[in-house]
Amino acid sequence: MNGPAFLLAVNFVIAICFSLVFVVVSTRSRSRTAALWFAAGFAVASLSSLCELLVAYTELIRFWAFGAFAAVLGGLLLLLIGVGELYGRKIKFAYACVFLAASTVLDMWIYDLPRGTVAHAFSYQAPFAIVVLTGAASVFLSTRRLIIDRALGALLLVTGLHFFAKAGLAVLSGAGTTAKDYIHTNYALISQSSTAVLVVAVGLTLLSVLVLEIMADERSNSERDALSGLPNRRGFENGVKAAMSHAANVRHAVIICDLDYFKNINDTYGHHGGDLVIRAFGDLLQLMAPKSAVLGRIGGEEFAVFMPNTTAEMALLLANALRSGTMGIQIGALSPSFRVTASFGVAEVEQGQEFVDAMRNADDALYEAKRSGRNCVRQATPSALPRSAPIKIVK
Ligand code: GH3
Ligand code: MG
Ligand code: MG
Repeated sequence: MNGPAFLLAVNFVIAICFSLVFVVVSTRSRSRTAALWFAAGFAVASLSSLCELLVAYTELIRFWAFGAFAAVLGGLLLLLIGVGELYGRKIKFAYACVFLAASTVLDMWIYDLPRGTVAHAFSYQAPFAIVVLTGAASVFLSTRRLIIDRALGALLLVTGLHFFAKAGLAVLSGAGTTAKDYIHTNYALISQSSTAVLVVAVGLTLLSVLVLEIMADERSNSERDALSGLPNRRGFENGVKAAMSHAANVRHAVIICDLDYFKNINDTYGHHGGDLVIRAFGDLLQLMAPKSAVLGRIGGEEFAVFMPNTTAEMALLLANALRSGTMGIQIGALSPSFRVTASFGVAEVEQGQEFVDAMRNADDALYEAKRSGRNCVRQATPSALPRSAPIKIVK
């Protein structure tokens, strides 16, 4: 087995490995369809290496030469469909089939042209370049703008252009006088190694795009409460951190809300009834809080609302509106006489202040609301004061 034949075998194994990895990734990815297109693309492209070897070592030269061409182009088209799926520019499978058929006919037509001529080399490589450059365009035109997306776009651009470079090289250095000769040329060695490098680079970049997506999803799941659909305590705290780092003003506000006598609700309507109430309260928060607010379910029946660039007075208005809204919550599955109330503690948050201190102040105000008979709103005195600071009564 000579150098190019060895590289063909290596390319085959690499493509098969990528195909298997994409199948595995598809089981965890939200872009499952794209991952499966990639798996199919690498599987089909791997066949081209086998076809090239069969061209060199069997007598059915013409047949395997067309097979090699169709396998590379078919694989690239499947990758393109996957890229289109991932980057919101869907490409119809039927169009891909028509392009493949037309290009294979073109390949058959130019087969007997002298190899190493401009006409042959560029006609042979152009369909590959067109497909990969279309992929690059899909990535660049999409709304996904992470660094990894830019890297993929650039890599596809380079890969697309490398097909034209290969055509130029075939013209300059010769690609063998027949398809059978090809494998014994230096051109084959360079062509197969450059393709191997680019196949690995494209495969790894596509894989990175999907893996980063999975990591982002896992992170978002670990910060979200499944019952209410709101961020959990960790998600809330991270959300507050991000909101404070972008805030234009120095004053913000936080409200802590706690459902009243929730144990009784569980006792009366069962745990499932209690869950319905938690979900309904989460919906109420999402409905009534401003878009800029960071919401969270920070405990069993305890919620928090952080409002950037908001005065305590504005927060008090929202807390009172939420209090009224809570009394209006109706749950079809529970009895018509069902009523729920909540108590609220409001505190100011100053830019630069430890958020945990502001939360403690809001919690003290909430405790005061509970002590005052529940179903009411209390505001903590300014956060700069020590913990034992008196609570201002606001009802
Ligand atoms: P208070 O008015 O003083 O807040 O009284 P409470 O009964 O609401 O408060 P307490 O902290 O004594 O009880 C809260 C209850 O909330 C206890 C717990 O079983 C229940 N709980 C916590 N998480 C969940 C949940 O996810 N679903 C349901 N159904 N109940 C929960
Ligand atoms: Mg409670
Ligand atoms: Mg509680």
